[in-house]
Amino acid sequence: MPTPSFQDFQLSQPILKALEERGYEEPTPIQAEAIPLVTAGHDVIGTAQTGTGKTAAFALPIIESLANGRPSRTPRALVLTPTRELALQIEGDVAAYAKHLPLTTCVLLGGVPLDPQIRRLKSGVDFLIATPGRLLDLVRQRYAVLGDVKFFVLDEADRMLDMGFVHDVRLVVDELPKARQGLLFSATMSAAVRSLASTMLTDPQSVSVAPPASVADNIDQRVMYVDKGDKKRLLEHLVREEVTGRTLVFTRTKDMAAQVARHLKNKGIRADAIHSNKNQRQRERTLEAFSKGRLRVLVATDIVARGIDVKDISHVINYELPDDPEAYIHRIGRTARAGHSGVAVALCDLSEVSQLRYVERLTGIPLNVDEDQPFHDAGIAACRTAADRAARIRSRAGRGRGSGSKWAR
Ligand code: AMP
Repeated sequence: MPTPSFQDFQLSQPILKALEERGYEEPTPIQAEAIPLVTAGHDVIGTAQTGTGKTAAFALPIIESLANGRPSRTPRALVLTPTRELALQIEGDVAAYAKHLPLTTCVLLGGVPLDPQIRRLKSGVDFLIATPGRLLDLVRQRYAVLGDVKFFVLDEADRMLDMGFVHDVRLVVDELPKARQGLLFSATMSAAVRSLASTMLTDPQSVSVAPPASVADNIDQRVMYVDKGDKKRLLEHLVREEVTGRTLVFTRTKDMAAQVARHLKNKGIRADAIHSNKNQRQRERTLEAFSKGRLRVLVATDIVARGIDVKDISHVINYELPDDPEAYIHRIGRTARAGHSGVAVALCDLSEVSQLRYVERLTGIPLNVDEDQPFHDAGIAACRTAADRAARIRSRAGRGRGSGSKWAR
């Protein structure tokens, strides 16, 4: 079957224009499969992870329908997603796709003051994106009214289950009108996810796409449990004692990238940072110094990771684990190129145990725990084991609360 174009879906000019401005040339596979089904009014259950274009797959037909439908002051579309980061990302995408239409979006997430969110709800919202805990708070206080919701999307259902949010999700669903269209997306389709889907979807059509990336099997993946305060010294130890070739270090923020590079330089190691604060010329110069061997260590953020195509990177060190497990795959894919083998080390502190678990779930490969290092923290290792056990119990019970981790509610 030929690849459809966005023009083949019944999308109006304002949406097509927004897509063109975003540089989307053709639909991704999940979009090609899901958009016609959603447009035709079906409930959909989709196996797809972040990175496949699933946000536009559900958002575009919903936006089209909202633009043509009867306006309301309360939300007509609701997306529930497990983390703050995903909620913000989805809202950014939806707002961009709807930018030429008179539709309003709003994101509700925990950990930030309530008042601006309440003001936003009062001023009228078409498309609501929320994490479950905060939405429930606002529903209970009657600021969020869900009686007009026509489209309900449950995003990352497997993570919702894993993080213990399923009870909150069910309470939100109880607030929705029975006559609605439901969409559920999940990276994995376990029995628990199917059972959840069966309670909130009617006669759903299935769509599924392969993961966008996988890990090369010639990468030796390890994790080192380490206290946050010891990370710089552990990194220095690794670079001095273990690493033979070029090393790429990843941090989550540009500030941390600069700090880590500075620390290594102060200790006499040839290192530099590359991140989005540096202009193109500076980045090229740093990359060249790294690829010519004048720098041993390059510290980078995810934003610039895809632009790094340097041969013979022997080690990728995840100084901090990314929130998005996909990013981990992109990061470690910088080593073991052209048939060479490589080592990927994750430095995992207590606050990152859940990210580590998501990475392992996405890749399907448990990381080898490397205890043979001077800063090994047995407490974090024990916490990891406990988190695994708790997740197994929660997933069996299919309900419960989150672990109070940094993941948003
Ligand atoms: P998602 O899986 O929805 O998080 O999307 C992953 C990334 O792909 C985001 O940066 C989107 O902006 C981008 N994307 C989604 N659909 C397309 C498309 N049809 N063409 C190009 N990029 C896309």
